[in-house]
Amino acid sequence: MEAEMRYVIVGNGGAGLRAAQTLRKRDPQGEITVVDREPLPCYYRMRLPDYISGWRDRDSVFVVRDDFYAENGIRFLGGRTVVEVRAGEKTMLLESGEALPYDRLLLACGARPRKLDVPGGELDGVVYLRTLEQAEDIIRRGKEADSAVALGGGLLGVEMARAFNEMGLRTRYLIREDRFWPQMLDAEGSRLVERVLESKGIELLKEEGIEEVIGEEGRMKAVRTTSGRELPAGLLGVAIGVVSNLEFLEGSGLETDRGILVDDRLRSNLPDIYAAGDAAQALDRSSGEHRIVTSWLNAQRQGEIAAVNMSGGEAVLEGVVPYNVIVIYGLPVACIGLDLPPENEEYEVLTGDYPREGKYRKLVRREGILVGATFIGEIGEARAAEELIRRGVDLSAWRDRLFLPGFDLRQLAKDANNP
Ligand SMILES: Cc1cc2nc3c(=O)[nH]c(=O)nc-3n(C[C@H](O)[C@H](O)[C@H](O)COP(=O)(O)OP(=O)(O)OC[C@H]3O[C@@H](n4cnc5c(N)ncnc54)[C@H](O)[C@@H]3O)c2cc1C
Repeated sequence: MEAEMRYVIVGNGGAGLRAAQTLRKRDPQGEITVVDREPLPCYYRMRLPDYISGWRDRDSVFVVRDDFYAENGIRFLGGRTVVEVRAGEKTMLLESGEALPYDRLLLACGARPRKLDVPGGELDGVVYLRTLEQAEDIIRRGKEADSAVALGGGLLGVEMARAFNEMGLRTRYLIREDRFWPQMLDAEGSRLVERVLESKGIELLKEEGIEEVIGEEGRMKAVRTTSGRELPAGLLGVAIGVVSNLEFLEGSGLETDRGILVDDRLRSNLPDIYAAGDAAQALDRSSGEHRIVTSWLNAQRQGEIAAVNMSGGEAVLEGVVPYNVIVIYGLPVACIGLDLPPENEEYEVLTGDYPREGKYRKLVRREGILVGATFIGEIGEARAAEELIRRGVDLSAWRDRLFLPGFDLRQLAKDANNP
């Protein structure tokens, strides 16, 4: 009888969990081990801001319960850190010194926040948000502080600002650019979001960064901004991007760039080693480039594709479409695909009579094909837009109807599925 396949997964996030579930379904006899330095069952990182601000309880942050792993015959090694991959021996080394052999290995080790590199950046009170433990630390600190600063013009920065504000702290929100999230939103879209933030009492300081964190006896008490302002604050939430967790792969022979380089089947350059999620820089067939896409949906999708290939199947990553959805004080915002096209005649940006009534709807086409979409206020079409973009659907036949009342991309996606 053939020996059972030993699958090992590093990382119990969205990618790792979905991979474990898929492997279990496809290979009922295989040995599946998931290792994570965090001791907890998989949880939704995107729910942490709502947990901090009191909108959610702790239980609702988790994707699965404690007993999920045992019930599914998955060995979960929580609270264990992988320090080395010895690809030649098909073994991983844990911090404890224990060696873990594998037949197929999935690196779903995610990313961590980029550190703020300024004087005082290590002071107590400078916080990051990636883990449940960090969220609970912020909750504790929020009870002792009066004011906070959030730094970072992306989705996580605004989530930090909102969480601080909802904890009752005087909140200043610093963004380096001249408007909110200029990488994804155009000026109209940014303005809609900024209006909501300001109406809730968040002070938005644009074109501002942090020069220095000022402290006393190891604790921060203020920040000095790049324009020279000194803002008193007991907490500084930093959200200036993420970096993939790659340190333990040094010397393994794995090819990495900003992430682990994998092809469109999520295979690395080494036999039987795959990568998925925030740690993977996967070949995007539509652009021919290797890209990191940091989203929950992408992590799940890649986890599943990797698992299918690891267990003898055939699955290929379709073109990667950036998919960002956030709800800011009840205002849903979705940015999908290429929202800010380069100034180029090839692109056509359609907005109908939006913005109106606090809502926005924008579709971007290239040679008739939908390549980007932004929805603010009403985002029910977001998934359909993602599907239409991923599949490269030509909207030319509907060009003049796209903004007529009642027109809905969901119907179009359905029709495209059943031609
Ligand atoms: C506050 C917050 C809000 C977010 N909001 C959204 C959102 O609204 N929408 C969205 O799509 N995405 C959002 N994201 C991003 C999303 O959570 C990530 O893209 C997703 O979690 C990536 O999943 P992953 O499995 O690749 O990595 P992760 O979730 O980072 O999991 C990787 C795991 O690997 C473990 N690990 C790493 N190295 C080792 C090692 N050497 N040994 C052992 N274990 C290791 C880590 O402990 C971690 O648990 C948000 C993220 C955060 C932090």
